[in-house]
Amino acid sequence: MGSALALALVLRKKGLKASVVVPNSYPPFLAWMPEASSTIIYEEEGEKAKTVTAESELIFCLDFNNLNRLEGYGDVVKESGKPLILIDHHLSPESYFLHALSDTSASSTCELIHRFFVGMEWTELIDRDVAECLYTGIMTDTGSFRFSSTSAQTHRVVADLMDRGLVPERVYHHVFDTNRFERLQLLGHALGNKMKYDADLHTAVIPISLREKNRYHYRKGDTEGLVNYGLSILGSRMSIFISEEDGYCKLSLRSKGELDVNQIARQYFNGGGHKNAAGGRLDLSLDESLSKIDSVLQENRSLLA
Ligand code: 5GP
Repeated sequence: MGSALALALVLRKKGLKASVVVPNSYPPFLAWMPEASSTIIYEEEGEKAKTVTAESELIFCLDFNNLNRLEGYGDVVKESGKPLILIDHHLSPESYFLHALSDTSASSTCELIHRFFVGMEWTELIDRDVAECLYTGIMTDTGSFRFSSTSAQTHRVVADLMDRGLVPERVYHHVFDTNRFERLQLLGHALGNKMKYDADLHTAVIPISLREKNRYHYRKGDTEGLVNYGLSILGSRMSIFISEEDGYCKLSLRSKGELDVNQIARQYFNGGGHKNAAGGRLDLSLDESLSKIDSVLQENRSLLA
């Protein structure tokens, strides 16, 4: 959302027509973002998304590097035959992009969008709105500047954004201090009743069922960041969060140091991402997913213990 909105705002300032399309809805804690309400959500506005795709001359693919990450909208993009430009920081990009600014060492796609603006000599077009969009992506993707992907350059980019009107506190407030009470209750339930920690394998597993989500009036984004608690246990090297969805389970994996969850997500969970932050999907029930995770952990005992 941050990278796409920032790029769209700047392209519009250049006099171009730009639309942002996302495959499915974004969490409510991003709804305050400048121009967020003009985003076309493919799952809800499929025809509109198809029309803007057909009318476009160029498609920027931001913060993903494989069209299958777009679910149904991926086919629309593929079949449009439009030239695709990639700006992304995930591992193993596909080869069908006309041009690619792909750097896995970058903290976030928003940092790369800033690099793109510098290269295009468009930095004068970064106003407070653009800066807030970029900061939102950088701040969330670096876990508030904690993760190892945070570099001196990341901070230099943020300094530049502050020079252009960014007030970080405003973004923190919108993203972190707008919780519903039920969201915190769900968090308490997950940590108090659901999280299991295997000290031998240095691994935390946090499963949440659909019933539990319903009980706490779950809304998209409510479990965002939950997986990080499993990694904050002293000695923990890996945390796995499993969210039961309608007919499948979505997984979030986090790790520390050399333990490569991108590789684990690719090998066992139909997913991918980064070395220390990845995700995946199992077309199984929650119980079956937990058994699968258990057998993966046992199979990799020598790696984890
Ligand atoms: P999260 O756990 O926050 O959903 O995702 C962590 C990272 O893994 C993100 O960079 C995200 O793009 C990536 N990721 C999440 N789910 C999947 C997936 O199903 N497939 C792939 N390839 N990457 C994923």
